[in-house]
Order: sequence, then structure tokens, then C-alpha cells
Amino acid sequence: MNTTKYIFVTGGVTSSLGKGIISASLAKLLQSRGFTVTIQKLDPYLNVDPGTLNPYEHGECFVTEDGAETDLDLGHYERFLNVPTSQANNVTTGRIYQAVINKERRGDYLGKTVQVIPHITDEIKHRIKLLGNKFKYDFVITEIGGTVGDIESLPYIEAVRQLRWELGKNCVVVHLTLVPYLKASGELKTKPTQHSVKLLLENGVQPDILVLRTERPINLELRRKVALFCNTDVSSVIESIDVSTIYEVPLKMQEEKLDEAVLRKLGISTEIEPDLKSWSSFVKKLKNPKSSVKIALVGKYVELPDAYKSISEAFIHGGAANNVKVELQWIHSEKITASTASQILGTLDGVMVAPGFGHRGIEGKIQAVKFARENKIPFLGICLGMQCAVIEYARNVLNMTDADSTEFHNATPYKVIDLMEEQKGITDKGGTMRLGAYPCDIKPDTNAFKVYNSAHITERHRHRYEFNNEYLSKFETAGMKATGINPETGLVEIVEIPNHPWFVGVQFHPEYKSTVINPHPVFVGFVKAAVEYAGLNKK
Ligand code: GLN
Repeated sequence: MNTTKYIFVTGGVTSSLGKGIISASLAKLLQSRGFTVTIQKLDPYLNVDPGTLNPYEHGECFVTEDGAETDLDLGHYERFLNVPTSQANNVTTGRIYQAVINKERRGDYLGKTVQVIPHITDEIKHRIKLLGNKFKYDFVITEIGGTVGDIESLPYIEAVRQLRWELGKNCVVVHLTLVPYLKASGELKTKPTQHSVKLLLENGVQPDILVLRTERPINLELRRKVALFCNTDVSSVIESIDVSTIYEVPLKMQEEKLDEAVLRKLGISTEIEPDLKSWSSFVKKLKNPKSSVKIALVGKYVELPDAYKSISEAFIHGGAANNVKVELQWIHSEKITASTASQILGTLDGVMVAPGFGHRGIEGKIQAVKFARENKIPFLGICLGMQCAVIEYARNVLNMTDADSTEFHNATPYKVIDLMEEQKGITDKGGTMRLGAYPCDIKPDTNAFKVYNSAHITERHRHRYEFNNEYLSKFETAGMKATGINPETGLVEIVEIPNHPWFVGVQFHPEYKSTVINPHPVFVGFVKAAVEYAGLNKK
């Protein structure tokens, strides 16, 4: 297509309706018709990026190839589309204001009074159009974070209002709302949807398409009612009913013809049907596993599964690739001690120790590693999980009592994990870690080589500390090998214990690169090892 089309997705009534999944599903349907699509998230908070946010606040921080710390919805976009996102795909109010204030300080506004309208809204519009202008996508889907009516979201909705005028026919607004079921009266209620559309109208935006989240099917009569009250045609009222997995949503949206409604509004032919064969076969596999394995996810934010979103999704992909369901056991690291480890982990088929920051929960993670190592249970350590594996090995095999990471114990006599050289002068917290994709060379005849089937890979990073190479030869002689190394810096990226069936620690985050179409080899390999271990168990 020679002009980029812009699709805005707004949300009404409540948060957590799944705008990210609806945006990703619509994008998938358009991509499956042969179009190029990207999705962008606008977040109305004042943090410049979510990198400084506690996971309890906002769930996982997703990292892109180019090292942006972003909202977890970008993970869904990549998992659905199998196309990497970048810095430009996540914009926050903090970033917008920072850019405007920097321009003001440079004198770019030539003495004008700097205001929300037009300066902030111009900056928002610039960030939206950048994806179309620079990368020439056929479709840019922009998800507006928050709920219509929030004070924080107003400048974004105003930018959408302005863009509708500028873009004319090349723009569509999809509004996602809730149709609650009232048990007492046995009815679905459309009033909250009517009110949220009214709120949008007050802000000058008429939605073209309404997606109604619901627990129960919405009949034609109700759809007609919504269409009538909300100034739209009935074929633009789309039902989005609860499904058992988010990966079913694109199939449901295809049944509901969401993509057709969008294309019709944009005057684009709907003749070519989306090809969702490989997607459907993934969903089929997912819903019909042959057996199951139990894998521990040991972390300190387990009360909030969103904190480990990409990891749990990568296990879903890795499970489907092995025709099994991975039953993740969410285990709080503070519960694991030398005396509880066997009771908590003893019946499981794999142990995964999660990424994280700070001292809380570390000793439990180290106990989990020890239990998996000694009992030859398949083990995967990611980032901090890998660092815990190194600390455990130092303490219990190399007899370096009190070995530690300087993140937790600066005065340790054995700094087996230490601050990276380039981190030493840094004091600011935001955007200053080792972030994004770096290369790694993998040694032959290792589990890492087996899973990747390649000697050269790149993986995404988010950390400040590293394996201290001063100790490398001691570890290797004792039996823990560095099997993946950054060819430019010599940083250890992967450690393994060859006399254990499957013990792999990775300094990077493989979970960020796992998608439906390309389940990540590390997760596929780890789940496979767990399946084999489970088989051994039963004998
Ligand atoms: N806290 C560790 C570091 O900064 C690990 C980070 C992580 O797990 N993402 O190196």
C-alpha cells in the first residue's frame, strides 16, 4: 500500500480488558492477509520508561532488540507477529514531556508559550506518524494505554481527535469496552459501553468499531442496541468473549470479522482471506497436549504472574513444541530453605530460577539451584538465576564459603559475580543497564549448541553484574563450564555443568525472543529435558 493506515485502539469502562491482545490479534489478522503491520503502545504515566518501575507496579519490563525497556504488551506484539519491536513502539508521557522540555531549553519554540495543545499533542502525533513515515508499514496500530476518562489519557485522545482530521480516510478508531453480565437479573448490560462511548464523544472522537468484552455471547438484538446508541453499524459491533488461551483470540476475531470491519472502513478490499494455518495448528497443539510436566518457576514476584509474563508465555510455546502442557509451579524463593527444598521441589520435572534484582529471596534461589544440581533435575537459570547458579557452585563445590555477587554482599572475599566494568561510574538508574541484543559464541558439544544448533547467536540483555572471569579457570576445572561467550568482550553468557543431564544458566533473557512461530530453542530444549526426566521418574 502506498499510504500508511493508522488504527487507534482505546479502552473504556475498566482497565485489564486486554487491549494489547486485541491489538495484537487484529495485527495478526492483517499480517496474515499479507500486509506489513506494527503495533505501538502509548503509556500515560510520567516515568520515561517502565525500566525503573517495580514489577509489582506494572508487571514485567520487556526489552527490545535495540535495548528499550518497555511495557509488557510489546512482548505480546512480538509473540503474535514474530516481528521485533523497537524504541519507537513504546512512548510514555514522561518521554513526550522530556522531549518537549528539551526542545524548550534549546530554544526551539522561538519564544512561544509551550502548552499541552499544540506542543504536547504535536509531539504525540509525531511519535505516532514516525512509524508510518520512517518504516513505511501498511498499518500502524496504536494502543492508547489507560481508560477513556482518565485525566492522564486526555492529551492522547486529543491527539487522536486531531489525527482523524489530518488523516481522513486513512484512520480508524477501535474502542474496546465491557458488557458485564448481571447475575441477579440474568442480563448482559450495555449501559457502561454507552457511557464510555459518550465520554469519547465528549472528547471529540467517534469510534468506528466497538469490541465488546463479555463472559457470555452477545445476541443480534444487543448488538443492534449498541450500534444504535453508539452511532455505528451493527457489523462494526464485535463480540470478544472469554477464551481459554490468549492465542485463541485471533481466531475468534477472525470469526467475528474484526479485520473485515477495519478494512471496510478504510476502503480496502477484503477479498484475500487471512492465512492462519500455522497459527491454528499451534492452538490445536496447545489445547490437546499429550501429557504434562511440572516445572518450578522460582522467583520473588510470584504473587503477580505478570512479572514473569514472557517467561510463562515462552513455556507455553516450548510446551506446545514438545506436545506437552507445562504446569508451572509458582514458587516463592523465600520459602525455599535447605530443609524445605526437597518437599517443595522433590516431585517436579524441572527447576527454573527467575531473573530479578536485590537481595531478598536470594538464599532460597541458591537452595533451589543446589537441589536441582545435586538431584540432577533439569535446571534453567535466567540472568539472576544464572548468577545464583554460579554463586551456589562456588560455595558448595569450590568451597568458597560466602561467595556472592557484589550486588548483595560487597565485602565478600569471593566476588564471583561482580559489577561490569562499564557500570562502575554509573549512578543513574534509568536506562543504564547493559540492554538489548549482544552476540554470543557457543562452544560445540554442549547443551547450548544442541538447542540452538548454531555457534553464533544474539540474545537480549538487562543486567549490571557479570560472571567474574578471574574465577573462570577454577570453575571450569571443577566442572562448571562457560559454554557461551561474548566474542567482543569475553563476558560469560552461558554456563553449564556437563556431568548433569541438563543444567544451563544464561546471562541473557531468552524469553523475550520466544514467539508462537519461533518457540525459543532454550525453552524447547529445557522442556524436552523435563519430559525426559519425567519419563525416567515413572520407571
Ligand atoms: N540483578 C542482576 C544484575 O543486574 C540480574 C538482573 C536480571 O536478572 N535481569 O546483573
